[in-house]
Amino acid sequence: KQKIAVMTSGGDSPGMNGVVRAVVRMAIHMGCDAYCVYEGYEGLVQGGSYIKKTEWDDVRGYLGIGGTYIGTARCMAFYERPGRLTGAKNMILNGINALIICGGDGSLTGADKFRAEWPSLVEELVSTGQLTKEQVEPYKKLNIVGLVGSIDNDLSGTDATIGAYTALANICEAVDKIESTATSHSRAFVIEVMGRHCGWLALMAGVAIGADFIFIPEKPREDNWQQEMCDVVKKHRDWGKRKTIVIIAEGAMDRHGSKITPDMVKDLLADKKGLALDTRISSLGHLQRGGPAGAYDRMLATLQGVEAVKAVLDAAQAVKEGKPQPETCVITINENKITRQPLMAAVAATQQVAKAIEAQDFDKA
Ligand code: ATP
Repeated sequence: KQKIAVMTSGGDSPGMNGVVRAVVRMAIHMGCDAYCVYEGYEGLVQGGSYIKKTEWDDVRGYLGIGGTYIGTARCMAFYERPGRLTGAKNMILNGINALIICGGDGSLTGADKFRAEWPSLVEELVSTGQLTKEQVEPYKKLNIVGLVGSIDNDLSGTDATIGAYTALANICEAVDKIESTATSHSRAFVIEVMGRHCGWLALMAGVAIGADFIFIPEKPREDNWQQEMCDVVKKHRDWGKRKTIVIIAEGAMDRHGSKITPDMVKDLLADKKGLALDTRISSLGHLQRGGPAGAYDRMLATLQGVEAVKAVLDAAQAVKEGKPQPETCVITINENKITRQPLMAAVAATQQVAKAIEAQDFDKA
């Protein structure tokens, strides 16, 4: 019997609860036992009450709740082999033979490392006398599947990550509110949104709310960006607009890799010798990722959670038939179809883009 555990890891995103619900219920539906690992990799390393068998009713009501009920954490111990060794031991002691992880690229990198190391971890557990040969016998292979939970929509190989569309809707809702006060006072607002290496949220929010100007990491501004922005804002004001909205992603920068900050933009808009606009900064922060998941993310979490269990069972079946274990996959969505991609290729491509943006190598990015 397959014992499938689900875990949420890294930064939380709306829809993670939907993933947990879908995995638990699909696992049970397919005749497997379902487990939750609490607090991400920390729970795997701690073991004990952090790993709990989960029943159908335990996840009732999860779809409509934001964040992750089973907790998430950053776990330093899992970066090191001894932490992963303890994690492997706890999995075996709980009889778990498959792990579904919902997190960002860091969490998925950890997952890949864990699977690659698995045979040697099992060997070490036996050679150090922590477990017997008989105990580890059914756990020679680890079955891992990834799901991408992130508001940044920053994973290569998928059109949407779980949580991104909810965060986008949260930004739009917040900006609508800001706009009514901005219009009343004829003010300018510089709105900072999340996205260190990926400007998807800033760009899409800019389009969705009709921002006057947008700064994203993928389009570093030329040396004359100050003039360019002021010209655009002045033109819009001359057309009779009473409000100015500038959206800036966390990772915004100029051609030379220098950060463009909300303060810099504000000072420019407020400059008495220039536009002299009454300007405020609003950093939306965690409001972007809080609250219940929107319809799209509930749907994505459910369909992808179901697909993750199917991928686990396909891999288990292949091994049972003596075929090679399929490559670890991450569940994606492409052109509205739920798909599977090789996990490490997707993570490597994502990290390459992030590095290229940092290094200002935009052909590679
Ligand atoms: P976010 O996109 O929100 O940052 P993330 O999944 O990328 O999410 P990280 O903090 O990078 O978040 O990773 C979460 C956890 O995954 C880490 O605390 C660590 O336990 C594990 N992890 C990340 N990278 C590795 C790695 N290279 N090797 C082993 N474990 C890792």
